[in-house]
Amino acid sequence: MPEGGQHAADESSAHRERLRADCGRCFGLCCVAPAFAASADFAIDKAAGQPCPHLRADFGCSIHDHLRPQGFPGCTVYDCFGAGQQVAQVTFGGQDWRRTPGIAAQMFEAFAIMRQLHELLWYLGEALTLPPARPLYGQLSRARDETERLTRASPDTLGDLDLQAHRLDINALLLRASELARAQHRRPETNLRGADLIGKDLRSADLRGASLRGAYLTGADLSGADLRTADLTGADLRGADLSGADLAASLFLTQSQLEAATGDLTTKLPPALAPPAHWPPRRPSPGRAGPRD
Ligand code: SF4
Repeated sequence: MPEGGQHAADESSAHRERLRADCGRCFGLCCVAPAFAASADFAIDKAAGQPCPHLRADFGCSIHDHLRPQGFPGCTVYDCFGAGQQVAQVTFGGQDWRRTPGIAAQMFEAFAIMRQLHELLWYLGEALTLPPARPLYGQLSRARDETERLTRASPDTLGDLDLQAHRLDINALLLRASELARAQHRRPETNLRGADLIGKDLRSADLRGASLRGAYLTGADLSGADLRTADLTGADLRGADLSGADLAASLFLTQSQLEAATGDLTTKLPPALAPPAHWPPRRPSPGRAGPRD
């Protein structure tokens, strides 16, 4: 790899590392700040700002190894993109909401904002690795620098931020990056942005270059589908079957989306993502002898 290319790859990898959750440096913010509604994802109702009853005094989770069987799969798919440790250690300088209850409300508000900023940083970082988006690298870099600057802001400045406007500007840029990256395979019939594809049979579908931004793919069968250069920003993949699907060059896929889906070791993933621990190693082949046979 040329020296410049190696530098860009190292920078991209360091950038991604910073956006990984480090729960040991957080104060359980995702277990306190948001409200939960009892559902298939969470076994309990919980008001915003109220600690989950499973949150320990040391901010660990008392059922961490049993979240799915205990009815908390939503916790296993949640990703703060490193916003928790940023708010805990940088924005509030290591103060925690238990020992300093006066900061709690502002800290929880800052966490919700920071998570969105960090999520934008994740997408911007990925866009900056897409060779077809090279004409946009200057704008993408400036957007990333500005977003980085905001992540270091004080709690008051974060509270005053027009986050919606910032998101809109960056989303427009990411859309253009996506269009450039999908240009080679783009077809009108695969413009499925926001489409209702719940439970659809998409086995072995050719979805190269598709826009699946915000698509509802809950429970869809995408086994064996070709999703190279498909834009999956915000697609709902809960319970979708990705066994044997090719997502290696998909765009804007997150670990959280993978955690919510099922797949196996034949699913091809982007290098920055890992197969979730709950995926079975390999899909049982049809007609294979079961335990009773
Ligand atoms: S169950 Fe565990 S991970 Fe989920 S919110 Fe409660 S303490 Fe946090």
